[in-house]
Amino acid sequence: RQRDPGEPEFHQAVETVLRALWPDIENREEIFAAGILDRLIEPERVIQFRVPWVDDQGVVRVNRGYRVQMNSAIGPYKGGIRFHPSVNAGVLKFLAFEQTLKNGLTTLPMGGGKGGADFDPKGKSEGEVMRFCQSFMTELQRHIGPNLDVPAGDIGVGAREVGYMFGQYKRLKNEFTGVLTGKGLTWGGSLLRPEATGYGLVYFVEEMLRQKGSGLDGMRVALSGSGNVAQYAMLMLVESGAKVLTLSDSSGTVVNEEGFTRDHWRALMTLKNEKRGRLSELAAEFNLKYLEGERPWANVSCDVALPCATQNELDEADAAALLKNGCYCIAEGSNMGCTADAVSLFRREKVLYAPSKAANAGGVSVSGLEMSQNSLRLLWTEGEVDEKLHAIMHAIHNACVKYGRDGDHVDYVRGANVAGFMKVAEAMLAQGVV
Ligand code: NDP
Repeated sequence: RQRDPGEPEFHQAVETVLRALWPDIENREEIFAAGILDRLIEPERVIQFRVPWVDDQGVVRVNRGYRVQMNSAIGPYKGGIRFHPSVNAGVLKFLAFEQTLKNGLTTLPMGGGKGGADFDPKGKSEGEVMRFCQSFMTELQRHIGPNLDVPAGDIGVGAREVGYMFGQYKRLKNEFTGVLTGKGLTWGGSLLRPEATGYGLVYFVEEMLRQKGSGLDGMRVALSGSGNVAQYAMLMLVESGAKVLTLSDSSGTVVNEEGFTRDHWRALMTLKNEKRGRLSELAAEFNLKYLEGERPWANVSCDVALPCATQNELDEADAAALLKNGCYCIAEGSNMGCTADAVSLFRREKVLYAPSKAANAGGVSVSGLEMSQNSLRLLWTEGEVDEKLHAIMHAIHNACVKYGRDGDHVDYVRGANVAGFMKVAEAMLAQGVV
C-alpha cells in the first residue's frame, strides 16, 4: 500500500487473492523462496503515454493512455482496453492482475495485461472517436504484437473502436496480423466473440445451479449493465427460459417483473449499439418502470444476481438485500463486480458465489480462440466455437470445484484463485527469477 498509494482497487484485488490463496500455499516453501507473490503483484512493464487529438470544434484535447503488461509466464500479454473517465494506473493494474489469474484458468496459453485511457466516448461524434482511437494506437503499436501483447475490448471499447485501432495498427506496421481480438468477422474476427462473455457467464451459472440440482428454466434473474456483457447474458438467459427482471446503466435501472423478451433485447441492441442512447429511453418505449439513479439489487426479489456493469457495483447492503429476498446464486460478469464486504457476506452465508475471474472468462477464452484461428488463417463455425466455449467454462468450473470443495459446498473464490495461481506459479518457477 505504501508503494502504490492511491490504488484502492489494486489493493482490494491483491488482498482478496492473497487471503483466498493463503491456506493452500502457506507451506509451499518453494513459492516464497522464488519470490512468486512479490513478482506476481509487480507488473512486468507499465506504459503510460499522451493521447492528443482534435475535437470537432478544432480544439486540441489530451488524454492519458496506458498499457499494463502484468505477466507473460504462460503466454503473450492478453487483456482488454477500457475507455472511461475513471481509468487510471491503479484500476488497470487491478484488471491486469485479475486477468493474469483468469487467463491461467482458461486452459489457453495467454499471459495477463490490460490497457485503456481516461477518454469518455459518451457524447463524442464518430469522427472524434475515430481520431482518438487512431492517436491511441499511434503510440500503443510500439508496445504490442501478435506474439507479444494482444489487446481486446472492454468498457467503452467495442467493435467500432477495435476497428479503428486495428486499421491504424495495420497502416503503421504495414502488416495484417491478429494483434487485436474482437475484430469484425470479415477481417479476422471469430464467430461468437461478441457473445462470448455473456454466454460464457450463463453457461457457468448453469454449472453452479447444477450443484443445487436446479437449472435456469423459470429462474428470476437480476442483471445489471446494458453493454456487451449484459446484452448477451440477457439473450442467453431469455433463450434458456430464465426471467430477466432488470437492466441498468450508470443513470438508473429498468425493471420488468414479467421478464424481458427477445423484442426487448432487439430494441436494447439498437438503442445501445446504434443510437448510443440511454436505458431510460427503453423504459419509455415499452412503458416499463424506471428507477433513476438506482441499482437493481434491492429492487426485485430474484434467485440469481449477475452484476455485468463495472467494479464494486454491488456492496454489502446490496448483498444483504439480495439474500433477504431469496437470492442464492451470484456470479460476476463485471470484473470485481462485488465489494470485498459483499463477497465476505456471500461466503459466510455459503450461497453460490462465483468471482469474475471464473465466471466471465468466456470472453478472453474466445479471444484466445480468435488468436488460434488467426494463426491458422481459418474461421471456425459457430458450432465449433460454441463447443469449445462450453468445454472451457466446464473446465473452469471443474477446477473451481477441485480446489474449492468444502463438504457439499463449493468455495469458488478459493477454487478459482488457487487454480489460476497454481498454473501461473508453476510456469514462473520453471522459468527462474525473471
Ligand atoms: P460496455 O462498455 O459495453 O458496457 C458497460 C456497461 O456498464 C454500460 O451499461 C455502462 O453504463 C455500465 N457502467 C460502466 N461504468 C459504470 C459505472 N461506473 N457505474 C455504473 N454503470 C457503469 O462494457 P462491457 O459490457 O464490455 O463490460 C462490462 C464489465 O464486464 C466490465 O467490468 C468489464 O471489465 C467486464 N468484462 C467484459 C468483457 C468483454 O468481453 N466485453 C470480458 C470480461 C469482462 P453507461 O452506458 O451508463 O456507462
